[in-house]
Amino acid sequence: MKIFCIGRNYADHAKELGNAVPTTEPVIFMKPENALLQAHTPFYYPEFTNQLHYECELVLRICKNGKHVQSSFASNYYNGIGVGIDFTARDIQDECKKKGLPWEKAKAFDNSAAVSTFLNMTPALNKKNINFSLKKNGELMQKGLSSDMIFSFDSIIEHISNYFSLNNGDLIFTGTPAGVGECVVGDELDCYIENEKLLSVEIK
Ligand code: MG
Repeated sequence: MKIFCIGRNYADHAKELGNAVPTTEPVIFMKPENALLQAHTPFYYPEFTNQLHYECELVLRICKNGKHVQSSFASNYYNGIGVGIDFTARDIQDECKKKGLPWEKAKAFDNSAAVSTFLNMTPALNKKNINFSLKKNGELMQKGLSSDMIFSFDSIIEHISNYFSLNNGDLIFTGTPAGVGECVVGDELDCYIENEKLLSVEIK
């Protein structure tokens, strides 16, 4: 199982971190299977960072093996949508970016990919402008709309599958909207699709 992540897929978030907005192709990175934090599991604040950030994202669940998938066929390759948190050690990521080094230490550590239970992706839901959000200790911190993505679900599938085989069970984090921020021990992060709370993570 592989976890793909898309970076800078919402212009307002790219700008809040001072990054260029991608225009021709999405930023792709990966997390290993050990990064997966299942719903209802506590998250322990990693000892190597002093600046842990949450990034709330829609997550696609791949249901079919494929390579070189054209975007017009891409919707056949995912059957579930959930919401997740791309946990990021922002201090380490900033250091890596400055030095031009890879991001894995900042992005791909154990339990850095929290994922909710999945909703069935129906054609009706897929056409909808999906609304998702994150609350920290009950306060709304991030609110996203799938229509604001620079690269759509189908275009993401096409890009990823040009480089990597997609396999049944792979997950794709599709990028975070503005409002990312720090979390500390004791915080509770709740993620929603529409008004349904699908994920709750306590930082321990
Ligand atoms: Mg992210």
